[in-house]
Amino acid sequence: SRKFFVGGNWKMNGDKKSLGELIHTMNGCILLNVTLSFFSQNCYKVPKGAFTGEISPAMIQDCGVHWVILGHSERRHVFGESDELIGQKTAHALENGLGVIACIGEKLDEREGGITEKIVFAQTKVIADNVKDWSKVVLAYEPVWAIGTGKTASPQQAQEVHEKLRGWLKTNVSEAVANSVRIIYGGSVTGATCKELASQKDVDGFLVGGASLKPEFIEIINAKA
Ligand code: 13P
Repeated sequence: SRKFFVGGNWKMNGDKKSLGELIHTMNGCILLNVTLSFFSQNCYKVPKGAFTGEISPAMIQDCGVHWVILGHSERRHVFGESDELIGQKTAHALENGLGVIACIGEKLDEREGGITEKIVFAQTKVIADNVKDWSKVVLAYEPVWAIGTGKTASPQQAQEVHEKLRGWLKTNVSEAVANSVRIIYGGSVTGATCKELASQKDVDGFLVGGASLKPEFIEIINAKA
């Protein structure tokens, strides 16, 4: 049931011409066993109102989009979103029928300080406290030090955290959820690094930034095929 899941996070990049070319290239390629859909990069915690610059899950659904990324490290660390806000957004998005790609991950000083587990467990708890239906949630482990840096986590580093996260889910949610939730990895994934990462037992896919803007993204989508 943990069907391989690959998301391309274009962030604030691209234009009609370059993204049109990318989609044209992808349409011409063989994507094995793949269903394509779009997702939003963020949403707010209430249905509507005077919140300039925000978008609600209802509006996202109205555009025919059924997934949202929440808690991305750039939202946390560039825009100062708190765990509490990310939890509230998660609850509201799920209640309104969106699937959520919930992102967690430690910063470099936290890894070096030996508190990776503590950080990702705390972030996961806030998300878990706001989830009733885990079939609509994908957990994305994205170590901040690996995002946009070219320093991909090694397959062993990714597997170690994914396995611990699954253990946390087993203890704190249920064994069924631990076994069925997809935990995907993000942070400098490339065509060159994707296959070995994808072969790890607890790596169920990727969230890809820079490489999702290039034809190389196709290799990553097909990493497990
Ligand atoms: P990069 O693949 O560019 O490191 O970005 C990862 C990411 O932030 C995906 O959400």
